Amino acid sequence: MQFLPLLFFISLNLSNYKVKVIYGGKEIKSIALEDYLKGVVAGEMPPSWHPEALKAQAVIARSFTIYHIKKGKNYFFASERDQVWIPKEKWLNYSEKIEKAVDDTRGYVLTFPSGEVAPGFFHSTCGGKTENATELWEGDENLKLIVSVKCSKCYDSPYFFWREKIKKDEIIRVSREIGDMITQKIISLSYDIFAEYSETGRVKKLFLPYGVFLNYYDMRNKLNLKSNFFKFEFDGEYFIFYGRGNGHGVGLCQWGAKKLAEEGLKWNEILKFYFPLLKIKKIY
Ligand SMILES: [Zn+2]
Repeated sequence: MQFLPLLFFISLNLSNYKVKVIYGGKEIKSIALEDYLKGVVAGEMPPSWHPEALKAQAVIARSFTIYHIKKGKNYFFASERDQVWIPKEKWLNYSEKIEKAVDDTRGYVLTFPSGEVAPGFFHSTCGGKTENATELWEGDENLKLIVSVKCSKCYDSPYFFWREKIKKDEIIRVSREIGDMITQKIISLSYDIFAEYSETGRVKKLFLPYGVFLNYYDMRNKLNLKSNFFKFEFDGEYFIFYGRGNGHGVGLCQWGAKKLAEEGLKWNEILKFYFPLLKIKKIY
């Protein structure tokens, strides 16, 4: 029964909630939620970008944080593992702009139509269209409401298009490593490399030799690919990946948000663009 007082506290006092942040791998800081969000905005989007893009990022960060607090998460890594957070002394000359992005949107979050706070997913560059959240995550029925949208706004990103060559030997090395460690991923003994695509054309599973497959996170972490939005070919020695975008592609496209802000859209209009089935609500 020990969790009941905690839930009671969260429901009544979100605005005073102290977020536990694990910084530099070990140091734990306890920071008021709205102050924590300022460090996340500073860490997750270049603070030189348009103020309305920063405000959209602030609401995204608030939604992501509160969604997870309500699910029982009580600490956040100050890294990409959760959300990049950087302390105020590293905000350079942008303190005022960062603080304003969070203060001007105080209490605003994305919600599902049911009123529940939605996780504010975002990524750097979608490369033309965003991804359906359910292609990556499951376990919450509501996630089917975070849907793919067409975005032609992120072409200024250095990763709108990219190309990567990986030697066949390296692919085989990664396959062996994963095959040995994660035996439950063994589903075939084929030595071919082939892909299973999502509806938007992203590679959901990349099947490698030794009967293993890579999911999105493996493709990023083991093969260092910028995204799973690619086609590939083999020239006998190298696999050549022709890709688009940077990140998982779900939710707000940051480079697209930047462009939309420069074109005159307000933060709430930017969020509506990337989350057409969600609502924006002030909860404190
Ligand atoms: Zn985009």
